[in-house]
Amino acid sequence: MNSRLNRRVKIVCTLGPASSTPEVIEGMLEAGMDVARLNLAYGTQEEHSRLIAEVRRLSEKLALPTGILLDLPGLKRRSGDIRAVFGGDLDFALSQKADFIALSFISSAQQVIEVKRMLGEMSADVSLVVKIEEAAALEDSAAILEIGDGLMVARGDLALEISIEKVPLAQKRLIRDANYRGRPVITATQMLESMARSPAPTRAEAADVANAILDGTDAVMLSEETAIGSYPVEAVQMMARIAVEAETALPYQQILHERWQHAPPEVNDATAGAACQIAHQIQARAIVAFTAGGTTALRVSKYRPRQPVLAVTPSDKIVRRLSLAWGVLPVRKPDTANLEQVFDLARVVALETGAAKSGDLLVVTAGIPLSFAGSTNLVKVHRV
Ligand code: PGA
Ligand code: MN
Repeated sequence: MNSRLNRRVKIVCTLGPASSTPEVIEGMLEAGMDVARLNLAYGTQEEHSRLIAEVRRLSEKLALPTGILLDLPGLKRRSGDIRAVFGGDLDFALSQKADFIALSFISSAQQVIEVKRMLGEMSADVSLVVKIEEAAALEDSAAILEIGDGLMVARGDLALEISIEKVPLAQKRLIRDANYRGRPVITATQMLESMARSPAPTRAEAADVANAILDGTDAVMLSEETAIGSYPVEAVQMMARIAVEAETALPYQQILHERWQHAPPEVNDATAGAACQIAHQIQARAIVAFTAGGTTALRVSKYRPRQPVLAVTPSDKIVRRLSLAWGVLPVRKPDTANLEQVFDLARVVALETGAAKSGDLLVVTAGIPLSFAGSTNLVKVHRV
């Protein structure tokens, strides 16, 4: 059985001196690191490229698809041109073929639009995660969510900006808004902080991780714990254990119901929601989402089905991009020519990952025609 099959929440790990050897990186991958984050505020480009290459080599070796997130420092309360602030780091991130770029100290949706424009000029295709760590960004978060591909609740700097007692409620609101918009959201900073020095977290830290998961976060993040801590692999193991336990208590049926009620009146959302509703009603073992550009899988993830979402795509890039999406287990398979092959491949993927066995029910969803990214318009119940 695929080792990632029984966890829905994703784990982002920051790499640093404590996680720079192949042994530690391999241990973190095996423990459940879905996305490796490199903070460009620290270290050199040479060091970052070496770590990125190491993560890619080991993720290939272990057959564990792993996203690379490059976190661009920007400038705190900057003034001046967004190009000057992010330009150099953007060039580096694109040269490294990062899957995700995180933007620090963004204060408005307009700034995200400017970064998008720069990326357009460079014909770059990368997923943008906007860090919410300034009061102004929190106020403009609805517009930021429309433009960015995902959010990070950057609690460290946000606490300094808006005062610490406001952070828990800001976290809940940001996660909720991102959930309704179907955008992946990462909850970050000090989640298991004491594990930087101790092999076990505090009760409060375990509760913090569990509560972020109950708030609906797609991913939880480790910073110092894995970058400079003494127990990087143990921290990932602990994160995974808390996640698996906490996510059993998500109110799946209620989330599905609420989200479907608030869904935009369009074919894509209706189809994805219906796939989840059917899967729930017939107790399917998995939802198999055929997805060229990743949107079908993200749309299904938005409804938080209890079943794993096996996202089948021909693109390695999309496999890595889905590493941040709640409940999605991305699988790369060559393009299929017709619907019969689609249903047969769904069966093969369900068996190969261990999500289902012979006789189990699957819900298959896709956009027809298959090669077109963006549409979700087919649901089929399939017996393995
Ligand atoms: P940082 O961002 O780790 O880059 O500061 C996260 C945060 O501020 O919480
Ligand atoms: Mn920060």
